Amino acid sequence: MAFPESFIKELTERNDINEVVSAYVRLTKKSGNNMFGLCPFHSEKSPSFSVSNDKQIYHCFGCGKGGSVINFIMEIENLSYPDAVRFLARRVGMAVPEDEKDVNFSRRERMLQLNRDAARYFYEQLSAPNAEDARQYIIKRDISPAMVTRFGLGFAPDSWDSLVFAMQQKGYTKPELLDAGLAKASKKGNGGIYDTFRNRLMFPVIDIRGSVIGFSGRILGDGEPKYMNSPETLVFSKSHNLFAMNLAKKSKMGYIILSEGNIDVVAMHQAGIDCAVASLGTSLTPEQARLISRYVGEVVIAYDGDAAGQKASQRAILILQQLDIKVRVLRMSGAKDPDEYIKKFGAAAFENLLKRSESHIEYRLADIASKYELSSDESRVAFIKEATGLIASLPSTVEREVYSRKTAEMARLSGDTVITEVERIRKRILGQARKKQDSESSRPAHLTQPRGKNLRFDNIKSAAAEKGVIRLLYYEPSLFNEKAQLSEEDFSSPLLAKFYTQLKERIIFGAQPSLALLAENFTSDEISILTEILNEPTELSQSERALDDYIKIIKTEKLKRHSGDGESPDLNEIANKMRESKGYGG
Ligand SMILES: [Zn+2]
Repeated sequence: MAFPESFIKELTERNDINEVVSAYVRLTKKSGNNMFGLCPFHSEKSPSFSVSNDKQIYHCFGCGKGGSVINFIMEIENLSYPDAVRFLARRVGMAVPEDEKDVNFSRRERMLQLNRDAARYFYEQLSAPNAEDARQYIIKRDISPAMVTRFGLGFAPDSWDSLVFAMQQKGYTKPELLDAGLAKASKKGNGGIYDTFRNRLMFPVIDIRGSVIGFSGRILGDGEPKYMNSPETLVFSKSHNLFAMNLAKKSKMGYIILSEGNIDVVAMHQAGIDCAVASLGTSLTPEQARLISRYVGEVVIAYDGDAAGQKASQRAILILQQLDIKVRVLRMSGAKDPDEYIKKFGAAAFENLLKRSESHIEYRLADIASKYELSSDESRVAFIKEATGLIASLPSTVEREVYSRKTAEMARLSGDTVITEVERIRKRILGQARKKQDSESSRPAHLTQPRGKNLRFDNIKSAAAEKGVIRLLYYEPSLFNEKAQLSEEDFSSPLLAKFYTQLKERIIFGAQPSLALLAENFTSDEISILTEILNEPTELSQSERALDDYIKIIKTEKLKRHSGDGESPDLNEIANKMRESKGYGG
């Protein structure tokens, strides 16, 4: 074991799960000892993510994820077990017992250090004699010295090895430069490496904790690619980060402006609009949307006005809506992007534009209308059909009425006609949704099988009893004396058997074992299954009899497995299903 048990125990005691989770999830509803919020791991509109104060575990009834405070940090920060432990130790100022085994942690720290040194180097290069072009470019784009400092902008010289050379002087090795994506291996095969970024204006990408995790380099003037980003590394993932989120998260504006280019972001911040971010050369990803939703509930999309920008807007709207984020869309006329708009018309005009930005419904209605010639009856009908479908999906009655009237005006119809049509469609949609839900919840397998895709229980009856045993072992460890013994072979599920033995090993004098101690030996999917088991209601007053019953079932099922005719009906059924799903069943 990498960390001593006593250390993990103290760590989890000092990192209260409610406090830790609250930094990521708005926990609002309280029910008994549990707090509820919107799950950070899947898209949902009503809270099914619970945090239990007394059990010190989290569990999502929607996607099934769960575990201790350590698992939570592993999942949300995308860290390994040892890194999550170190993260939590740092949070409460505990010293971590040394272990040399973990190379990944030191690799990570070292890469962050290298990135920071590289950022400093690029920044210094901006004042070097050979950076005249870069300085001219900054002046041409009207970027103030204050913004250069604020964003830590820099210059990658027009040279093959200036960064490589400077970093090697500081003691970084070739493999370290390659791993960090700051250098590339020479194609000559002579072991040489060269700078990834050359003759570019450099934007360090800084995560929400303030670490430089990668770079985005813009070409000076025209040319392709316009922006070049660091490749995916141990510390950098494009789809999980947003440029300038480290600054925008502190904004008091109450929303986030999503734009396409880093220069747009700088221009907006310079104009006093400090809530602008840019997705790093990708269209908005669900992970980026989730990052935003940790801080605000509203987004203004300020993508370019061209066809590609419009398409990206549509996609972003859908992703943000999934997270129940309010979306508005900025329509700029006379300029192609926020940077140009601010240069041409000034900061005040841009702020005005922001205030007038359309709700995404208006935006989409206008978009639909633009597809049809509203002069012919035929196209008016087609327009109404598409528009009412959109409006019917809005949860708020007021909104439905407002946009119905607006649509009616556009198509020169009476408002009431459109409202009636919208409500008719809405009824149909709700009916379908209810039917789907009913059929899903009446499926028993849905309830007895774990949600993890890789694990199915072969013997559902025995597995249920095995789960019961595990629950009792966790909550009533004193029950497990010599007479209540089960061995691993008695279990039908290897995973449940492993839970049982690992929990049992950690019971000291009948004390409740800690879920956090198990995190190291199981995958996060497995820990989620264990959490789900522990979260099921347990009647502890009858626990001794329940334990006897469980053991009886487990032993009977084991006998069935080992008796001559062997196969239980469950197994047959599963085998059949597998054959069917592989398509050679009939
Ligand atoms: Zn979930």
